[in-house]
Amino acid sequence: MFHRLRNDFPLSIITMLSTCALLGITPFAILRFIQGNVVAGVVDLGILFSILACLAWAWLTGDTRRSGAVLAFFVCAGAVAVGLVMGEPGLFWVFPCLVTTFFLTSSRIAIGLNLASVLALMSIDAAFSSSVQLWTFAATATTVSACAYVFALRNQDQRERLEHLATIDPLTGVKNRRAMDEELDLAAANAERTGLPYALVLLDLDHFKQINDVHGHGVGDKVLTDLVVLIQQNTRKTDQLFRYGGEEFVLLLPGIEDSGLQTVMENLQQVLRKRLHYPGGSVTSSFGVASLLPGERVVSWLSRADEALYQAKASGRDRIVFAE
Ligand code: GH3
Ligand code: MG
Ligand code: MG
Repeated sequence: MFHRLRNDFPLSIITMLSTCALLGITPFAILRFIQGNVVAGVVDLGILFSILACLAWAWLTGDTRRSGAVLAFFVCAGAVAVGLVMGEPGLFWVFPCLVTTFFLTSSRIAIGLNLASVLALMSIDAAFSSSVQLWTFAATATTVSACAYVFALRNQDQRERLEHLATIDPLTGVKNRRAMDEELDLAAANAERTGLPYALVLLDLDHFKQINDVHGHGVGDKVLTDLVVLIQQNTRKTDQLFRYGGEEFVLLLPGIEDSGLQTVMENLQQVLRKRLHYPGGSVTSSFGVASLLPGERVVSWLSRADEALYQAKASGRDRIVFAE
């Protein structure tokens, strides 16, 4: 549970806002029934129930995009209903709701919902005692919405940048080891569910240290970026390449049977032999290949590929070894 909250930002926002709303609204719902204001109490209960349903939806399906949008709708509808039933005191609830929508759904939907809520409330004559109050409400609601919009947009932009920095290797532009761990877990889970075959290739450049030592790191870096381009040009769009570390890369191939795997690997080896160069000649690579076995764990899958790579190196380099 804490793992999901930490890794799924929209889910954590939905959970946090729902919890705040439940804690904030429940005492008022009870109070309204105690005071005999049954209609307001029923409205509060309806809001509480809708929030709980959206929260359960988000947790059970993981579909935070739709559950967040529906929750934002209920939050706004609830604010309008409270304004309608309570009049002026109910209007205070509108302001937190206007802020909340930007964190629950896309900016476009949030603007639409906020606009509709403010206009709906402005059309309720009984809610305002004077036109000055009505237009003050319109101005403050617009200001709050604009501030929330800017804040949510910046927050989203920074989160996307951080996610990019945390998962992409800056030199080659492919995903890093952290992203690889997640993708391999997903692949193993998908293989178990659907039976789709997966293969994993551990690739290590041969004598790469010498290239760096003799020609400098700049040349070494160019070899690494050329390698990535060549692999991406010669694999399928669904295949994923990760930088495992240094001059070691992992290629994840979904939907590939053992028979096809041999051909794919031989082609890739030929392409790299022919087209991956440094000023002193061509660069060769060693490959350890392992197909995911039924029910196998990722650690064991990786370690079989690693063992195969070790054998490829030990038996002279520039070769492909398939794990048993
Ligand atoms: P082997 O055939 O056994 O794999 O030998 P090797 O020389 O390729 O292996 P080794 O692990 O000894 O050397 C890897 C080298 O990769 C050492 C390190 O300087 C270099 N390296 C790691 N990351 C980078 C990088 O980002 N850029 C450059 N230019 N070199 C890197
Ligand atoms: Mg090497
Ligand atoms: Mg190495």
